[in-house]
Amino acid sequence: MAVSNRLSSFGTTIFAEMSRLAIEHEAVNLGQGFPDFDGPDWLKDAASRALRDHPNQYAPTGGLPALATAIADRWALRTGILPDPATEITVTCGCTEGIAAAMIGLLNPGDEVVVFEPYYDSYRACIAMADAVPRFVPLRAPGFTFDPDALHAAFSRRTRAVLINTPHNPTGRVLTREELSLIAESCIEHDCIAIADEVYEELVFDGREHVSIATLPGMADRTITLSSLGKTFSVTGWKIGWAVASPELTRAVRAAHQFLTFAIATPLQHAAAAALRAPDSYFTELRASYTRKRDLLCDALARLGFRLARPEGAYFVLADHTPFGFGRDTDFCKHLIEHVGVATIPPSFFYEQRDLGAPLVRFAFCKRDETLHDAIERLAKLRVK
Ligand code: GLN
Repeated sequence: MAVSNRLSSFGTTIFAEMSRLAIEHEAVNLGQGFPDFDGPDWLKDAASRALRDHPNQYAPTGGLPALATAIADRWALRTGILPDPATEITVTCGCTEGIAAAMIGLLNPGDEVVVFEPYYDSYRACIAMADAVPRFVPLRAPGFTFDPDALHAAFSRRTRAVLINTPHNPTGRVLTREELSLIAESCIEHDCIAIADEVYEELVFDGREHVSIATLPGMADRTITLSSLGKTFSVTGWKIGWAVASPELTRAVRAAHQFLTFAIATPLQHAAAAALRAPDSYFTELRASYTRKRDLLCDALARLGFRLARPEGAYFVLADHTPFGFGRDTDFCKHLIEHVGVATIPPSFFYEQRDLGAPLVRFAFCKRDETLHDAIERLAKLRVK
């Protein structure tokens, strides 16, 4: 087999696999988390103007100054602290590259990384690419909170980093200030780095607050905060992400980033700078629209017999499918795609302890209302056993 030992166990990502099956079975795709509508026209216009009016050559490896400044200004708006765009911001190829660059730039072979499960699939693969060792802390259904004792037990003398994702994919949890403070305490006690994936930062519902762990006492200089444009502006295909970190941690991220991608698409960086200066109303409307979509899907799923906790953030709902009589998520998802015509994601792929994901199914609601209605109509075929 040609695939390296590091990566051979991961296979093809479940997102690509389920999207492929969705096409094959002409299923409504509530699996892979990408909007089936496009980002705003003003943003696409900004990109085409940039393509035409600016040089189409390499951007600086840290990012186009106009974008780094826009990222720093937006960070300051939310946190009150203004990062230095030249030394504390790195533009990456989506957050996925940011995660890889942070891990590869920071970790030595054998270093341990604390990860909450369920986790986004690339975390586990990036830890493997960095020859590091994961230590898992479960977020348990139905509330998807963690046990503080399990958190303490996951840290050791060898812990170098903890990986946090809030708002969380796939559970929809938004970690509270108290939960983040517990993580911060362990991080400080063990002198390690927090890597915070905050790509769903704008998608928090019901008046909840998104808290960045970097803003908690003692964390500013030991946190790499990662985010991206894709979710907030419905342009997942642009693959524009960024890392905000102290100059020292930024050097670690850039040590890897310069050799992974070197620099990111220049015209799209110009457009991204414009996006981040969108008026408040853009972000308020985005949240309102996703709140409606969440409620549309969750109300229907609950009526059909799924058990679920309404997501607090992000654009996924993790529901309990066991009332329908299927033992495992993979069997249920196969039935849905082949006989009901709806593609979803089997969450056991996000767990090291696969069984924790077996009773669950993930639906994405970043879809047009027509798509959600179509899926709901098809799902009405399901019968509670
Ligand atoms: N973040 C998206 C999801 O969770 C998928 C991204 C991908 O396909 N790599 O569905």
